[in-house]
Amino acid sequence: MLRAGRPAHGWVNVPPTRASTFVFETVQAWRETRKRRETERLNSYGARGTDSTYALEDAVVELEAGHRAGFFPTGQAAIAVTLMAFLKPGDHLLMTDSAYEPVRRFCRDQLGQLGVEVTYYKPDGSDVQGKIRHNTKVIYVECPGSLVYEMLDLRAICDIARAHNCWTIADNTWGSGWLYQPLVLGADVSILAATKYLGGHSDVMMGIAVANEKAWPQLQTAVVDYGQTVSGDDAYLISRGIRTLPARMAMHAESAQRVMQWLGSRPEIVHVFNPSLPEDPGHQLWKRDCAGINGLITIELSPVYDACQMESFIDALQLFGLGASWGGFESLVIPANMAAARSLSDWSCRGQIVRLHIGLEETEDLIADLAQALDQLH
Ligand SMILES: *Cc1c(COP(=O)(O)O)cnc(C)c1O
Repeated sequence: MLRAGRPAHGWVNVPPTRASTFVFETVQAWRETRKRRETERLNSYGARGTDSTYALEDAVVELEAGHRAGFFPTGQAAIAVTLMAFLKPGDHLLMTDSAYEPVRRFCRDQLGQLGVEVTYYKPDGSDVQGKIRHNTKVIYVECPGSLVYEMLDLRAICDIARAHNCWTIADNTWGSGWLYQPLVLGADVSILAATKYLGGHSDVMMGIAVANEKAWPQLQTAVVDYGQTVSGDDAYLISRGIRTLPARMAMHAESAQRVMQWLGSRPEIVHVFNPSLPEDPGHQLWKRDCAGINGLITIELSPVYDACQMESFIDALQLFGLGASWGGFESLVIPANMAAARSLSDWSCRGQIVRLHIGLEETEDLIADLAQALDQLH
């Protein structure tokens, strides 16, 4: 990652290119470029790519072992446009019940009215085979899943998809290309909210869809038709973030591991969700398919604590910011509403669920902060 997308000579990082118009010397050159740009990377117009987006594309294509990549202003836009690229009225979409919540909204509010049928399947994928229909066109995966990190056997899902002539689209924001590689496991498109770990500093938003060779032409058409692009400045920021991705990820993981160990000793917490824990149902798949963990940990408070007490626990935290997103250098916390986030499993009898993002602060400071906030529950 330290070399990906870097020129062999010259500037270490490709400087941000701000551009819309590219001018040609002759009509023939202009015409030629417009023809060739459908299959080749050529400068022709800002929205079609610049030196900055090409450098970033090289890096993410290497991270994900893909063919080409499309760029979007947010992760959510990358998901929405990618789904639109592969679905048409009358098609059926198999959607994981562990999807990032705004994706569920997109299915309900947008795909519903376009005449795309959506069926949810269990986060472990065990019911996918039985839910395939003659018109199933896409199987959408998020592994590990949002909030509680359920694993599924992506290789097996991709085998089912291929046998039924369906596309497999994976949200790989958790793995961010470094911990998990959906395309290597057989998926056709891997989507990254680069807003999270690729950017890494909570100061830029971007979505990236990396496609294999088969899926790229269809994805590229949608990217162009929906006018999706990113600025040279944002592409530069994500490229720069990628330079430290392995180092940051290792530090997030080490700290998260120590925090998890400590959380296990606290009586207020009845469950820690993380696929690296041996008792996690997805642990074997995680060992097989993932190269490690990131800074995400979700905890379940003892059912003796109600929503009010959970909220005062969060309010008592000093070092954990209360806010959306994760993957930046800083620690974050948010209450997780599992009842709204899952339709195939019942969370009503469980304790309060809280998601933590372990940032790059000193682990001892984070543990001390969690300790004082948990103490206030009594
Ligand atoms: C944050 C997130 C997204 C959306 O990314 P934005 O850039 O915030 O739109 C998509 N998928 C997952 C799993 C996420 O966590």
